[in-house]
Amino acid sequence: MDLLDTLTAKGLRGEVPTREEALAVLATTDDELLDVVAAAGKVRRRWFGRRVKLNYLVNLKSGLCPEDCSYCSQRLGSKAEILKYTWLKPDQAADAARAGVAGGAKRVCLVASGRGPTDRDIDRVTDTMAAIKDADPEVEICVCLGLLSDNQAERLKAAGADAYNHNLNTSENTYGTITKTHTYADRVDTVQKAHGAGLSACSGLIAGMGETDEDLVDVVFALRELGSDSVPVNFLIPFEGTPLAKEWNLTPQRCLRILAMVRFVNPDTEVRIAGGREVHLRTMQPLGLHIANSIFLGDYLTSEGQAGQADLDMIKDAGFEVEGAGEATLPRHRADVAAAVAPGSGCGTAASACGSGGGCGPCGGHAHDTEAASAPAAAVEGTNDGLREDLVKVRRRGAGTELAPNA
Ligand code: SF4
Repeated sequence: MDLLDTLTAKGLRGEVPTREEALAVLATTDDELLDVVAAAGKVRRRWFGRRVKLNYLVNLKSGLCPEDCSYCSQRLGSKAEILKYTWLKPDQAADAARAGVAGGAKRVCLVASGRGPTDRDIDRVTDTMAAIKDADPEVEICVCLGLLSDNQAERLKAAGADAYNHNLNTSENTYGTITKTHTYADRVDTVQKAHGAGLSACSGLIAGMGETDEDLVDVVFALRELGSDSVPVNFLIPFEGTPLAKEWNLTPQRCLRILAMVRFVNPDTEVRIAGGREVHLRTMQPLGLHIANSIFLGDYLTSEGQAGQADLDMIKDAGFEVEGAGEATLPRHRADVAAAVAPGSGCGTAASACGSGGGCGPCGGHAHDTEAASAPAAAVEGTNDGLREDLVKVRRRGAGTELAPNA
């Protein structure tokens, strides 16, 4: 049985491939690409049908972060000309969330820049969640506030949060090359805190930061072991003014191979195409839907995505359908958010992981710090062929502005 038959058979049974098989997916050629997508698509349809879950980002607090994540436009010392503002008021955040839900989003992701929340910040987010759920009790809320201290996850859960996001971003081995102000272990700890409090875990990665194939496989297996219920796959958006501004290492083909590898290792987990979708997959985005079952609608934290209507048109044209509020995202044998929030139910033993370290997942910065110049260099195949600076647009609408959100 060849590689793809093996991966498909395992995925259909919900089994995880070997590390070598995952690496082999990343090493496939462009001639094999459609076969890889088709194999991953069979696994995707087995567990998620043709549904696409839409998530909507609300950046509660933008920029001015004291952390130094080198991929991030909000980092300490960033020269990126992004929107900078402090906490949105609950009604402002609720207005933005409402636009996303009206556009078809099932989940609202409340994100704030910073190392981690103070207890006062938890109060602010509690008020914001109440305002959102007052308007629409069915909407799922995922919170992403960075590193959590003791008891903060429990407070968020009690206040109505359904999930917590905290990304691992890259492998343990290379984490120190992208961030100096906190550690990989800090991130794992927060994911475990969130999961321990009964929050559904959302935790993913950023590709395109100069990592090796081994790094990608390491972090994806780590996410599986942590029990992440949803895995956002970010493709680095190289923002001018950040250390990784010149890192254009991804091609659409490479992105599809990465998505397929993530799917095979996480056959029954929500796999989300996150930041960088438009910049790096470009016209190949619809093929990504055959692998991933989730995307962000509209804009990202600090960059603009394609028009929300274009997202909806793409889903329809590709033969998929938007997942409704009443539909379960995860297969029955796994805890869905609705079940996970009920005491005593949920994924049980699996530790869910979440969070993009420090507050933000889909920020799309790039990954190499100045110090990170020593990071593995030969990982990526695209060199600068994928350079599309014209597609990197700083967000100028929606939350924190007077202009309507893109949803
Ligand atoms: S990822 Fe989060 S913690 Fe890191 S610099 Fe950006 S806002 Fe700060």
